[in-house]
Amino acid sequence: MMSAQSFNSTAMPVDRKPFEILGNAWCVGEFQEALLAWFERAGRKDLPWQQDPTPYRVWVSETMLQQTQVTTVIPYFLRFMERFPQLKDLAEAPQEEVLQRWAGLGYYARARNLHRTAGIIHQTLNGEFPRDCGQLCALPGIGRSTAGAILSMAFGIRAPILDGNVKRVFSRLQAIESWPGKGKVTRQLWQLSERLTPQSCIREYTQAIMDLGATLCTPRQPACPRCPVQTGCRAFHLGRVDAIPAPRPKRTLQVRNCWLLALRNHEGAFFLQKRPPVGVWGGLWSFPEFEVETELMAWCYRYGIEGANLEHLPERRHTFTHFHLDYRPVVGRTERSSRIEEDHRGRWSKPGADIAVPAPIRRLMDELSDRCG
Ligand code: SF4
Repeated sequence: MMSAQSFNSTAMPVDRKPFEILGNAWCVGEFQEALLAWFERAGRKDLPWQQDPTPYRVWVSETMLQQTQVTTVIPYFLRFMERFPQLKDLAEAPQEEVLQRWAGLGYYARARNLHRTAGIIHQTLNGEFPRDCGQLCALPGIGRSTAGAILSMAFGIRAPILDGNVKRVFSRLQAIESWPGKGKVTRQLWQLSERLTPQSCIREYTQAIMDLGATLCTPRQPACPRCPVQTGCRAFHLGRVDAIPAPRPKRTLQVRNCWLLALRNHEGAFFLQKRPPVGVWGGLWSFPEFEVETELMAWCYRYGIEGANLEHLPERRHTFTHFHLDYRPVVGRTERSSRIEEDHRGRWSKPGADIAVPAPIRRLMDELSDRCG
């Protein structure tokens, strides 16, 4: 665990080389010292994954934190660790159960990759995480920044990181105007991260630079007056903080359409089918999906579900990274639960059941249950 007493920034060898990219002729060592002193004073030291930071716990937390806020991640992390306390537990668990613990966090490929990678490490690497960035990055779902976090925070090995928050901090420090996701800009930011990462106090530095991005150098209204590295921040001195970094260029997302059948039986359970292992909501349980309405109606007709037993709800939209999914829910009622279950691979499930259901589907189930009682 990191504590305020766990390192002494004044004992750190200071890199006195001038660092031409930072403003006001700061040297790299001054940047590191200021950041570490701030971390000692104000950094986060009680996050669950900071307690006993094994490679496994750091890896799971970093994977959950991709695209997701700390406050959202904490309960998921605790639940996940309760069920899979060690890498072996995750490796040996059925994928279904991993997805179940993940359900609600979104971006389910992350959970599938965690499961695959746990299997690889358990079976082929004797349960040991590699201590090399290249080898870590060869594992499913581990990118360079996650590898850097595992190496630095779990092993204490000097390795730069560059997650979304850190990209923003470095873009502002150096006043790089362009969107950080551009290949050329990303390379530039990696060079800066490599340059600013110290030789010692690596665990504290890594957490400190993440904390700076998450708590002070926020996307909107960053707390520059309280920032420990303000002296070296070019965007601050140029008055360009609000404009840097540029947002992701607008993309026109494709729209996919489908029909979903929310079929309820006399016990208030919904009929769910397991989705294919890859693709949208891969491996999760969801309502039967149809490309066109006639397919849905033919399916219902087969079981005598027609007219008064069907209700069309307004279209809804769920946006994924690369496309919008516009789906039209049709709510149905049936008394023929067992025949439907026999004919189709699926299960009847009540809204609160502990199975992996995508968040929009779970919301719809809750909504329909509240309405129908
Ligand atoms: Fe971010 Fe402001 Fe600090 Fe610059 S001075 S790094 S913009 S918080």
